Amino acid sequence: MHVGVIAVQGDVSEHAAAIRRVADARGVDTEITKIREAGLVDDCDVLLMPGGESTTISRLLADEGIDEEINAHVESGKPILATCAGLIVAARDPQDERVQSLDMLDITVDRNAFGRQRDSFEAPLDIAGLDEPFPAVFIRAPLVESVGEDVAVLADWEDSPVAVRQGPVVATSFHPELTEDSRLHELALFDGHPAAAETPEANQ
Ligand code: GLN
Repeated sequence: MHVGVIAVQGDVSEHAAAIRRVADARGVDTEITKIREAGLVDDCDVLLMPGGESTTISRLLADEGIDEEINAHVESGKPILATCAGLIVAARDPQDERVQSLDMLDITVDRNAFGRQRDSFEAPLDIAGLDEPFPAVFIRAPLVESVGEDVAVLADWEDSPVAVRQGPVVATSFHPELTEDSRLHELALFDGHPAAAETPEANQ
């Protein structure tokens, strides 16, 4: 399985470590590519778009021409997990013209809404598809103000969606890479993916 981690800016290595943990636990032969330039996305089975600073990430994606490649990846039905600033960049309406949105997730967000209230906090979240609560770390998190009818809400916090899915796109307003718990990476990128079937060697 070939995983691309968008690495123009943000917390890339923690996500790569989380993906590696899932791959090792499932015995899936996995290659991780950090993507900073155009021409690499097409080879990836799944993508991850980390948190960081959404205006910077979206500008760099456009400058490098990676934005169109991510859109093509999603249009062909391949999974992507977008976290925090990644969710903002994915949103149809980030309500900030400095964010050059990829418009692949029908949500409206307030970029720094949680941040203005509380800079960062951790909360146990019930997430659809996971048996036990997930320790979600929020850092200057975006608030999802509204979701379109094709968007499934996977988790709420204080009556606001904080994890959503629309087709191959899963997005969280928190940082699933900041704990040792990799279930969200597994849910979004590995579960049900043909390339994530166990390699024959792992069964021996
Ligand atoms: N609110 C930040 C932004 O607008 C995102 C914060 C984060 O990714 N931790 O980019």
